[in-house]
Amino acid sequence: MGEEATKTIQTRLHVASGDRSWLHDACLAAREIFNQTIRLKQQGYTRTEIQNEVDRDDFLRNNKCAVVGKALQTWDSYQSLLDWWYEQDDSDGNKPTPPSTDKSGAYPLVMAHTEGYRLTVDDNTNRVQFRISPKPYKKVKGNLRGESDAMDELRDALTSNEVDVGQAELLYRDGVYYLHVTVTREFNIPEPDTSDTVVGVDINERNVALTALDRETMQTKGTLVLDYGRVKQERQRYHTITTRCQEHGKTSIHRQFGDREERFTEWVLHRLSRAVVKFAEQFSNPVIVFEDMSGIRNEMQYGSYKATWREIPTDTVDAYYNSRTCSCCGERGDRQGRRFRCTNDECDVAQDHADRNASVNIAWREKAKLGDTDTNYRTHKTQPQVRLVRLSGSGRVSRPSSSRFLAEQGVLAHG
Ligand SMILES: [Zn+2]
Repeated sequence: MGEEATKTIQTRLHVASGDRSWLHDACLAAREIFNQTIRLKQQGYTRTEIQNEVDRDDFLRNNKCAVVGKALQTWDSYQSLLDWWYEQDDSDGNKPTPPSTDKSGAYPLVMAHTEGYRLTVDDNTNRVQFRISPKPYKKVKGNLRGESDAMDELRDALTSNEVDVGQAELLYRDGVYYLHVTVTREFNIPEPDTSDTVVGVDINERNVALTALDRETMQTKGTLVLDYGRVKQERQRYHTITTRCQEHGKTSIHRQFGDREERFTEWVLHRLSRAVVKFAEQFSNPVIVFEDMSGIRNEMQYGSYKATWREIPTDTVDAYYNSRTCSCCGERGDRQGRRFRCTNDECDVAQDHADRNASVNIAWREKAKLGDTDTNYRTHKTQPQVRLVRLSGSGRVSRPSSSRFLAEQGVLAHG
């Protein structure tokens, strides 16, 4: 089936002409537009009314519309998070807070391609050149730098008819300007039922457990557990620091840590999504299967657009009892910490890693959903050892084994 996927390519600006301060001014103006948009939205203004109300002569009209659009997206995600929070039975503490309207400092300058910014490939140098219009009649030009893979991808996007170059965001961080460019492509994603490998993904508060099963034999091809316990601790630490700073009214420190935390969460989700795809693509014709749930799990599923870029299909299955069902005999069992114990005397499995067990069940559900018969036979009693990768707050990943090529990417190979 044809499906569109959008990806962000991250680059840095190397400015050759024009004034860098124009870029900075535009990022500061973008922050003011963001704040004004959120305030108007809180007062009940519609999108069109906001677009009319926000009026600046130091900004391209087109850029203004794009920044207002990004601010409204932030508002929408806050609203859906709030709706989700109200649906929870135990909705105490940690109520989502609305986007802040009193921050200052740089905000991304959002621009449409060919209007707010334009990219071209120089035939002689093969460099990607940019032209940005941070203010009316002001242009900043130069070329983009980035990882060679990313730059290749961007060059392909600019020279191919099949890839659309969309909005870009200019970001300012610690003296450096970054340009994040979105590119959109259509893919022919295989149907899930053409898959040979079913990859069950169990996402819980401690980790993400992945198990790849051969669809024919349902033998386990590999299991990987990505532990983000330490990441959660780090997040908690930032939360504590920001709360304390708020209490003391030290807003500048709050701002600093607040943004750092946003980036951190983004980094974790990006990293996890990439890890899931890296794991899946080791196997032949995989389908990546998630539980159909809300909250953090959905955030993670948004990351599955990364699977689309590699033309891997994804699917979802019911979430009921995946963690409390034995993946071998199908009976309910007990979960004790990280162990799953089967209570069925007839079953060959006495115990298993609880999250692996859940990810195997997700894979089994997918097999049933795809209409394969004979789901009575469950998985093998002897499972390969679970490999564990710890994501740490520093952005590095510990390396518990010598699996070279995946360890390099921060992801570990199957056992
Ligand atoms: Zn059992």
